[in-house]
Amino acid sequence: MKAPRFSYARPDTIAEAIALLTRFGEDARVLAGGQSLVPMLNLRIAAPSILVDINQISALNGLTVEAEKVHVGALTRHAHIESSTDVSKYLPLLALAMPHIAHPAIRTRGTFGGSCALADPAAEIPACSVALDATFVLAGPNGERRVPAQDFFQGALTTALKSDELLTGVEFPKSKPGYAAAFGELTRRKGDYAIVGVAAHGFISQARLSDLRIVIFGASDRPVRARHLESELEGKEASSECIRRAATALDADVEPRDDLHATGETRRYLTRTLASRVLSDLMKVGVS
Ligand SMILES: Cc1cc2nc3c(=O)[nH]c(=O)nc-3n(C[C@H](O)[C@H](O)[C@H](O)COP(=O)(O)OP(=O)(O)OC[C@H]3O[C@@H](n4cnc5c(N)ncnc54)[C@H](O)[C@@H]3O)c2cc1C
Repeated sequence: MKAPRFSYARPDTIAEAIALLTRFGEDARVLAGGQSLVPMLNLRIAAPSILVDINQISALNGLTVEAEKVHVGALTRHAHIESSTDVSKYLPLLALAMPHIAHPAIRTRGTFGGSCALADPAAEIPACSVALDATFVLAGPNGERRVPAQDFFQGALTTALKSDELLTGVEFPKSKPGYAAAFGELTRRKGDYAIVGVAAHGFISQARLSDLRIVIFGASDRPVRARHLESELEGKEASSECIRRAATALDADVEPRDDLHATGETRRYLTRTLASRVLSDLMKVGVS
């Protein structure tokens, strides 16, 4: 199938892009890497009257390392983030997650902001953003606003973005000394979206865990913090046996969904198993 007819605009600045989004409202769609939007147009799942192509807006591209945080521009390609030494140094969780996104060809075009704005419940970047307590920067006709990752993702393919707003970037606090990260996902084939995934970040001292942030993705309609599991493990000397027992707390954290790929019951089992593995990895990273 071919896409329905649409007009096309290629603004050079954020202000021009916002003016177009304000003028056309729900009839406009932002075009970033096009890796999700173009198939959606061709399948006629989306039929905007105008595409606002943001690829010429250089202010949206690249990483900036500041004293306390790293700013990732919305147009930064997945491949750039994957190969960035700043990301491995300051955001090791994100560095672990990037190779799991699709395939190299898609990662050369797909963008950080596109993945966040799409908000697929099984996507890696949204989960890491919640685990790392990131802040989303949204620009609209009335200026900029900042939204915590936890509040940005509001359901499957649904975010806090309004139709006249552009996601300009995401700010991550730099990982501090003593913190470790671990990541894992289960997929049918390499490069597929996750059936379930786990992103974990926390402080480890003398084999004890604290300030843990564990996020489950692929199981619900958005990335979910495993708060019961986090508090089960807080301050504990987490042996593999202790982690395995604590993972039952996940039943109170996620209500896994049924879909074509797995039943909710299968997902519940996979989530527990994967979380045990990822947290054991976290302990290994923390003591190595
Ligand atoms: C075969 C295949 C496998 C894939 N596997 C995975 C996977 O395993 N994990 C994963 O996370 N992703 C996967 N993807 C998706 C890929 O990561 C895309 O890059 C990503 O979903 C969208 O990024 P994009 O830049 O291509 O956005 P686009 O397709 O251009 O846009 C996606 C949506 O976001 C909106 N948008 C984009 N940028 C902005 C912005 N700055 N502000 C406001 N709205 C914006 C668009 O309007 C559109 O609604 C896969 C894609 C394919 C084709």
